[in-house]
Amino acid sequence: MAKFDYDLFVIGAGSGGVRAARVAAMSGAKVAVAEEYRVGGTCVIRGCVPKKFMVYASEFAAFAKTAEGYGWSPSGAVFDWTKFLLAKDREIARLSGIYVTNLQNAGAELLHGKARLVDAHTVAIAGKDGAEDRTVTADKILVATGGRPFKPTEIPGVEHAITSEEAFHLPQLPKRILIAGGGYIAVEFAGIFNGLGVDTTLVYRGANILRGFDDDVRAHVAEEMKKRGIKVVLGCQHDRIEKTATGLANHMTSGHVVETDVVMFATGRKPYVDGLGLETAGVTLNDAGAVAVDGFSKTNVANIWAVGDVTDRINLTPVAIREGAAFAQTEFHNNPTSFDHEMVASAVFSQPPVGSVGLSEADARRQHGKVDIYMSRFRPMKTTFYGGDDRCLIKLVVAADSEKILGCHVVGPDSPEIIQMAAIALKMGVTKPQWDSTCAVHPTLAEELVTMREKHLPVGA
Ligand code: NDP
Repeated sequence: MAKFDYDLFVIGAGSGGVRAARVAAMSGAKVAVAEEYRVGGTCVIRGCVPKKFMVYASEFAAFAKTAEGYGWSPSGAVFDWTKFLLAKDREIARLSGIYVTNLQNAGAELLHGKARLVDAHTVAIAGKDGAEDRTVTADKILVATGGRPFKPTEIPGVEHAITSEEAFHLPQLPKRILIAGGGYIAVEFAGIFNGLGVDTTLVYRGANILRGFDDDVRAHVAEEMKKRGIKVVLGCQHDRIEKTATGLANHMTSGHVVETDVVMFATGRKPYVDGLGLETAGVTLNDAGAVAVDGFSKTNVANIWAVGDVTDRINLTPVAIREGAAFAQTEFHNNPTSFDHEMVASAVFSQPPVGSVGLSEADARRQHGKVDIYMSRFRPMKTTFYGGDDRCLIKLVVAADSEKILGCHVVGPDSPEIIQMAAIALKMGVTKPQWDSTCAVHPTLAEELVTMREKHLPVGA
């Protein structure tokens, strides 16, 4: 008789957990996955996927304006938020269903309910509506519970503010919104709401948005956002939020008061470890409150692993997927695999969007000393035609001695698509001469990346 009920028990049916469960189950292992909410996790249910639909929805107003420059008559089209939400929720339900089917096809069992570790090999799954907890045992356990939005609770009135989770289900589109934060979510939702016609203010406490990205990218995106009508307020944060008869009064540290209908906090996400029983099982958390793991996603407990945002390494869906797959390859396919967290590209679906891979100029200078910069700003072709004011930015950061390209940054139409391809070359260690030997594809924005010959000199050099 088997010693345990399952070979693998996965807590959390998001991107990382589902991939690990499927790959493990394909080895013939007996696998179960517990999910307390909907299968698909943050990415599918309340993150990347619905966000991208909202970005698409919000872009049409600008397209319509562009279209006029091309000879189209104004269409007078109006946006229906309720209709959009219905279509979005239908598609999310379809995608969640596909995740369920994929798990079933791989032979993994899906258990609904919140799972809690009772000891290193025992998991209790909370019963619904007062039903008894179900307890099962497993040889190996994988924690893949993701993260949850964080709001600074010390701000009086912060309970009036929503997070991105609620932004996906607002009963109606507000007329005015203030978004606090300067990271991925704040910048993306500012573009979404602005595009949908909402009077949008973004307030960030630092010197410029998108900390961690290249400084030229940060400045460029902020400028382009302002051109599109977003009020970007820097070096300032909330003092308190007060409910008034006409909305929410945002009292800022600058002394200004901004009244809006909705306040959204996009002030980061925290690993979701609450009520998991990790301490009971002896699993150690790091200083950031994330599950501490080694290069093979293993915790300090010999039979417990963790992948994805709950480990707070690089909090991106494809990274969680690769960590989950690497874990399953190592433990169930006799193929030791450690996901390499170097040169992971990412995109910010701001308007305009950003694609970025490798080091920023500042980080490259810190790590490599002398670097050469190739940079260009220009109007995209589509815009030039009708005299639009948008600007693209492309930038390459190159090691002066080895000529290796250390970073590639693009702000402009299709930059997320462009950066995926650039990431292949950078991951392979491409040098600037090799990069330049690639013939351009004309007429495209991306061709500018392979035709930059002049080094960009700092102002005053
Ligand atoms: P980020 O960590 O990217 O940004 C959080 C922002 O909130 C920062 O600007 C931060 O400021 C600010 N902040 C933090 N605490 C406070 C506070 N107490 N008061 C005021 N401001 C505060 O988190 P997000 O919520 O934007 O996104 C969470 C994660 O989700 C990201 O790290 C990313 O990995 C992932 N994500 C990825 C996307 C993509 O790939 N396109 C899209 C959306 C999310 P400061 O910079 O000063 O610390």
